[in-house]
Amino acid sequence: MIKLNKSEAPDYLNDETVERLTVLFKDTGNNVWNHEKIKDALLLSSSSKCAYCECKLNAESNYMEVEHFEDKGSNPEKVVIWDNLLPSCKRCNGAKGAHDVLAEPIINPFLIDPKSHLGFKLYRLTDKTNVGKNTIDVLNLNHSERAVFKRFEIGEQVLSSIRDAHDRYQVWLKRGKTTRSKNILLGGIEGLLLECQPCSSYSATAATVLHCEPSYTKLVEILKEKGLWSDELEKLHDTSLELVLECA
Ligand SMILES: [Zn+2]
Repeated sequence: MIKLNKSEAPDYLNDETVERLTVLFKDTGNNVWNHEKIKDALLLSSSSKCAYCECKLNAESNYMEVEHFEDKGSNPEKVVIWDNLLPSCKRCNGAKGAHDVLAEPIINPFLIDPKSHLGFKLYRLTDKTNVGKNTIDVLNLNHSERAVFKRFEIGEQVLSSIRDAHDRYQVWLKRGKTTRSKNILLGGIEGLLLECQPCSSYSATAATVLHCEPSYTKLVEILKEKGLWSDELEKLHDTSLELVLECA
């Protein structure tokens, strides 16, 4: 989970429409939130990812659901209030159900930075606070198959890309420092860092594994020493560093 910034409310949700839809929901229980303009604006604010688990949405068989942070059953007044809506996957939305976030607060990543409440150990999320613990339990964020195993796969991919980068560095060094071998080396590192940006799926995991891995730190040192580290790579590196969860 990473900190997100909400885009502007869609024009569709003007005062008049909000009032009309709220009355309609109270009267009929209709899915008044299920509108393309609401869904598109939510997807835009999370790079088309679930706000909680960071899986990509709208891929085949992984459609977005509009999540009501404060449950719509207990708080019907907020059924289409923009600040109460989040883009979520079916599993996170289903796990959260009608959980009362006022009685037992969980992280709303549009409002608070998950880093303050969550840590990371052996591909599991750890809690630093009660809010962190509630979040993990309520959203089932340490479910072994859908969460922990997925993080493991992403982490292994990151570690494998770091190893490849070290190998490519050796090729560059030993084969006469050609432009071709340099481009292959730097292209690989750029690709690795792109996997750790806020727009990528499971970016908190990818960034945490990357920055907690000593051989990555070593690689950056070597490339800086050889004058190969560019401003562009530094920018991507810094952005990914913002997403890192504390490793235990
Ligand atoms: Zn999710």
